[in-house]
Amino acid sequence: MIVVKFGGTSVGDADAICRAADVVASRLHRAPVVVVSAASGTTTELLGIAEQAARGQLIGALRSVEHIRERHIAMCDVLLRDVPGGPDTAAEIAAMCDEVASLAEALTTLGHITPRSLDAVASFGEQMSALLVTEAFRARGIPAQHVDAREVIVTSDHFNQAEPSLDAISDRARDRVAPMVRAGIIPVLGGYIGATAAGVTTTLGRGGSDYTASLLGAALGADDIEIWTDVDGMLTADPRVVSDAKLISQIRFDEASELASFGAKVLHPNTIAPAVRRGIPVYIYNTRNPARSGTRIMFDAPRRPVTAIAAKGDVTTVRVSAPRMLLAKGFLRSVFEIFERHRTSVDVVSTSEVSVSVTLDDATRLDELLIDLRMLGDVSIERDRAVVAIVGSGIGDRGDCMGRALQALGGMHVHMVSLSASGINLTVVVDGPSMQDAMRSLHAEFFSHEANS
Ligand code: ASP
Ligand code: MG
Repeated sequence: MIVVKFGGTSVGDADAICRAADVVASRLHRAPVVVVSAASGTTTELLGIAEQAARGQLIGALRSVEHIRERHIAMCDVLLRDVPGGPDTAAEIAAMCDEVASLAEALTTLGHITPRSLDAVASFGEQMSALLVTEAFRARGIPAQHVDAREVIVTSDHFNQAEPSLDAISDRARDRVAPMVRAGIIPVLGGYIGATAAGVTTTLGRGGSDYTASLLGAALGADDIEIWTDVDGMLTADPRVVSDAKLISQIRFDEASELASFGAKVLHPNTIAPAVRRGIPVYIYNTRNPARSGTRIMFDAPRRPVTAIAAKGDVTTVRVSAPRMLLAKGFLRSVFEIFERHRTSVDVVSTSEVSVSVTLDDATRLDELLIDLRMLGDVSIERDRAVVAIVGSGIGDRGDCMGRALQALGGMHVHMVSLSASGINLTVVVDGPSMQDAMRSLHAEFFSHEANS
């Protein structure tokens, strides 16, 4: 049994849904359970409807409802043409849009929105796509059956970001989903949405369909989870910067998490943790390029010295020097307590006997921070720096990475260097305008040599 999840662009129009049907048809022998996102853009539009309505802009909100209706009915017209049940599906989708419109009217009357009502509105994207995809699959000979995800994904009542109840999900998956799979049926569920034990609709947070796929995969003990999206997989660098970035065929979970912290947007590893921790591999594939795409994410894939180059700009560095406190006990603790008090997380850290330097991704609380830090010593601030990292779980196993990296950066001004204790990344801080050059140089150093592939 495998879980096959399609993201928003992979169910965003009739052609995409046909490609998704081809993918599922090619995997029938593996007993797929299908999870779908809302058609791309729909969730954002639904959230906008709720907010607009609550602000009293009902006309604008209803116009967006009509846009969603037209788009989905147009997909029905193409995908379910000449299908006996087609008109019923279109009517059901239209009824869902009517429901969204009524909710919008209610929100306008109330003039106020709650997390609970926001989830109620947002859930319609996946409710519609799951129904539409199920019927489109059936029309193409796939024995699909819609399962309302809210009857399986049991969650807390922490609306907008509900926590899944793992035991309850396992029970429901065993009772509702597994028997269908055994009977040769392909269950199709909407991602992202769930319900409390009392049946109130919730959502798992934006991007939550990957989470649904992972929760179901873990509950059902799937062999694999496939995440179908619009990119080939994870790459060795951002291809907009490094033109010869390569597809990573296999990556460890900790490396993928590290890349996500640099803003790699393919998927958020936290959302696949439930499955990966159970040893279920997660694959990323491109619906438009099924044969040549694919990254496999595994908890304990072999360590590699260098897996990818990642970077983030707009970083601020703060250095606190306390010459008078040379070697004073507790100096570092006092510095970090201040960051903690101002809820500012630090990223790269480097220390000397008389100073500590840190980088901040988020410098919004800098003014208040400075007042406190200046009590400890001299403080200097530099803005517009960039953090560039070489990510690889085996980086610490090889002695030459640091030397090669610094050599590759040539005459570039490197302000900080740090090799994480877990040995998963080697990080340098450079001037913001040098970020892209640094990425290209490091990528050339570590990926144009056979030795690293
Ligand atoms: N439709 C939801 C969103 O746009 C969930 C997802 O696509 O994963 O955030
Ligand atoms: Mg997504």
